[in-house]
Amino acid sequence: MDPRRRQLPPLDLTPWPTTRPPRYCSNSPTTTTSSVARLQAWVEQVYRPGYGHLAATLAPCWSSHDLCLYGLDILSDLWSVLYLQPERTPRTLYAQAEYQARILPALAAQLVTETSGCGHTLPRLRRTS
Ligand SMILES: [Zn+2]
Repeated sequence: MDPRRRQLPPLDLTPWPTTRPPRYCSNSPTTTTSSVARLQAWVEQVYRPGYGHLAATLAPCWSSHDLCLYGLDILSDLWSVLYLQPERTPRTLYAQAEYQARILPALAAQLVTETSGCGHTLPRLRRTS
């Protein structure tokens, strides 16, 4: 087993609807290490293995970008709503198609734009800010 996976918390399979507020913002007192770790678990256990070329575009520095945290929060919660249901209705199937064909690619593109040229992947000595 990949040693990085042992450090990830289990996926939150809390049934929908959830009443929790948005948790991800670098300057928010409600953002906690565990909330980001939960999101990282979803990225490593669901997003990267399951969404091919879209997930491959996610920069390793995504957790340093609020836009990425918000986007992945939406994607992970919506994934839970769509794929952790006890049965698959025609409405759920249609929503899954919307998720994969439109929502996921649009948000993945936002994440790429946000992290392109951000400087996090450059060696520390070459950073300008
Ligand atoms: Zn970055």
